[in-house]
Amino acid sequence: MENLKSFLDKNIFKIIAAASHDMGVDAYVIGGYVRDRIMGRDTGGDIDIVAIGSGMDLAAKVAEKLGKKTKVNYYKNFGTAMLWHNEERELLVEFVGARKESYNRDARKPIVEDGTLEDDQNRRDFTINAMAISLQQKDFGSLLDPFDGIGDIGRKIIRTPLDPDITYSDDPLRMMRAIRFATQLDFIIEEKSFESISKNRERIKIVSGERVADELNKIILARKPSYGFKLLEQTGLLQIIFPQLVDLKGAETVDGRGHKDNFYHSLQVLDNLSENTDNLWLRWAALLHDIAKPATKRYEPKIGWTFHSHEFVGAKMVPRIFKQLKLPMNEKMRYVKKLVLLHLRPIVLSKEEITDSAIRRLLFEAGDDIDDLMMLCEADITSKNPGKVKRYLSNFKLVRKKLVEIEEKDRVRNFQPPVSGELIMETFGIRPCREVGTIKNAIKDAILDGIIPNEYEAAFGYMLKKGKELGLKPVDG
Ligand code: ATP
Repeated sequence: MENLKSFLDKNIFKIIAAASHDMGVDAYVIGGYVRDRIMGRDTGGDIDIVAIGSGMDLAAKVAEKLGKKTKVNYYKNFGTAMLWHNEERELLVEFVGARKESYNRDARKPIVEDGTLEDDQNRRDFTINAMAISLQQKDFGSLLDPFDGIGDIGRKIIRTPLDPDITYSDDPLRMMRAIRFATQLDFIIEEKSFESISKNRERIKIVSGERVADELNKIILARKPSYGFKLLEQTGLLQIIFPQLVDLKGAETVDGRGHKDNFYHSLQVLDNLSENTDNLWLRWAALLHDIAKPATKRYEPKIGWTFHSHEFVGAKMVPRIFKQLKLPMNEKMRYVKKLVLLHLRPIVLSKEEITDSAIRRLLFEAGDDIDDLMMLCEADITSKNPGKVKRYLSNFKLVRKKLVEIEEKDRVRNFQPPVSGELIMETFGIRPCREVGTIKNAIKDAILDGIIPNEYEAAFGYMLKKGKELGLKPVDG
């Protein structure tokens, strides 16, 4: 039997071992911590302990040994307890009693009874997550790996301990977890598992949207998220949870003219971007930037394929998609929406003569998100033609340079109009009305177009001029 004592290098393991010895209850480290240590990955500071007895009592005993200040949360309904311990960093240790689970078909919630270590390992989702390390004095550090999880790590395989049809049907969230782990670890899903996911895909509907979103976010945050989305698509899960993304698939040809497959293009953009940022929401923007291409697609014999206004339609789709996927309906959603709306602007700019006024407008609209927008646009270049790529990138360099120059000169990035609506109303003695908006907009446009400088005096003068044109008179003039 393999001994992994070296992985029990934290003080907390000695304390748990002593507590379990005192109580005469066997305890094991199990799950993600064991997997990640064997793989040499960061364990993320979470440790799962399974007790062959009461997990809550063991947690209480451990807390007693650690001293009064230890914080423990007990979850009686689940028979689990969580404890925070500060060693080299904050560790979250979760205790659970070994259990045996049986499921009914309508819910993810199992009927639970006390069980043996073997029962508990049987109920785990994947062989690589079912490995346990003993904390008993007699065999401290020995690995209990009944399903050859260690072999699967070597073979880079996601496999279920039991018949996959039972594992996935019992708890369909495991289908998302299989794809998520495959993506995070760069593993292959074993064929029988893959088939079973396809077969059981409809059962994903009994899983809460929030849990699915959690897994989607983890897939998006992986090093190469496209892999996970391709698996979701191939198993048919994507069609159920996020059909708009599947709609991007396919390349039509008319009169010998085709367009690119926007599903694979979007995934490529997501991968490209992911090389440069871990910003989850920027990654979402990459995935969604062309989401309205199917809805706006036209074939125009003189031009070919067009997707007019797909950025506007796409931005409008973002809130609906966030709601449907149970993603937050807050400033994160508005940020994604804004980036989808603006994603073509730097490209258009780089194709045309770059005017100061166009740069000012882009800076004004993108505000502090301008750097993220530029990163998204660079990732959007997926052409196979190296000449084209080079040309685009050098144009973007020029746009970036101009952005810096103009921002230094005009400071429009977080532009606030130097003349407020209140001042306009006060000056002309008017109540809120359309004219106030017209004057405000005219001042904004004049500044962005470089007609007047971004200063109070000039803006005030311009306001008087515009007011006059509209037949307004200053109250004391
Ligand atoms: P990560 O922290 O990256 O999500 P993890 O393996 O620690 O990885 P958790 O969700 O914290 O994942 O779960 C801890 C352990 O509990 C897993 O390793 C697995 O053994 C078991 N587990 C979690 N969810 C399920 C599930 N839906 N079905 C069966 N076993 C599960």
